[in-house]
Amino acid sequence: MPLLELDAVDVFHGDLQAVFGLSFELDAGEALALIGANGAGKSTLLRAITGLTPARRGAIRFAGTSLTALPAERIAALGIAMVPEGRLLFPSLSVEENLLMGTLTRRAGPWSLASVYGLFPVLREMRGWPATRLSGGQQQMVAIGRALMSNPRVLLCDELSLGLAPLVIEEIYQAFARIRTDGLAIVLVEQDVARACAVSDRMLCLLKGRATLAGRSGDVSQERIAEAYFGSLDQ
Ligand code: ATP
Repeated sequence: MPLLELDAVDVFHGDLQAVFGLSFELDAGEALALIGANGAGKSTLLRAITGLTPARRGAIRFAGTSLTALPAERIAALGIAMVPEGRLLFPSLSVEENLLMGTLTRRAGPWSLASVYGLFPVLREMRGWPATRLSGGQQQMVAIGRALMSNPRVLLCDELSLGLAPLVIEEIYQAFARIRTDGLAIVLVEQDVARACAVSDRMLCLLKGRATLAGRSGDVSQERIAEAYFGSLDQ
C-alpha cells in the first residue's frame, strides 16, 4: 500500500477549479518533485493534502486512511507536515519557540531540537533571536526545522529556494539530502526544474491544474519536460 495516494482529485478556490482529476502515489522514503509554471496548481495541491484547502472530489489516502473529510489538525497529527511558501514563521516568537511550535502535533521519531540544531548549526547560535531578524535563508531553515520537529512521515516542501541566494540554496539542499532518512516521504515543489529532478526519485508536471508528465526523475528528457511545462502551442 502506498503511504500517500491521490485518486482523481479536484480542488477549487471558490468557483475557480485549480486542480483537475489529479492522481499519484508516494511510497515511504520516496521524493516526488512537483513542477509547473506559476499558477499551475502546485501549492493548491499541497494545501489539499494538508486539508487547508480540502479537495472537492476524489480521494486522498494516507497509509490507507481517507483524509478527505479530516480537518487540517487531524491530518497534521497523522504525520503530514508542510514547509509553506513564504515560511510563515511566527514573528513575535524566537527561533527556538518557532521550532517548538512544530511539536504541537509531535510523533515519536528522530527529530528534536538537538537534531535540528545539528542539521542547521547556525540556528543554535541564534536560538533566542526573534525569527524576523534572521536572513531569508536562516528563516527557511527554521521553517524546515519546525516541520521536522513534528517527526512527519510525509514532508511537503513549497518552494524552498524562493528568493534565496545561490550559496544558501546549496546549503538548504545539502540539508535536504540529510533529511531523506528513515523512510520520510517528500513532495517537493521547486521552480528550479533541474534541481527538482536531481534531488527526487520521481517527478510530476502540472499545467493549468492537470498532470502533463509523470515519470522517474532521471529518465525524463529536458525536451519532454519543456513540452509538459509550457504545453504545446495549440493549448
Ligand atoms: P506558484 O508557483 O505561483 O505558487 P502554483 O503552481 O503553486 O503557482 P497555485 O498557487 O496553486 O499555483 O494556484 C493555482 C490557481 O489557483 C491559480 O489560477 C491561482 O490564481 C488560483 N488561486 C490560488 N490561490 C487562490 C486563492 N486563495 N483564491 C483564489 N484563487 C486562488
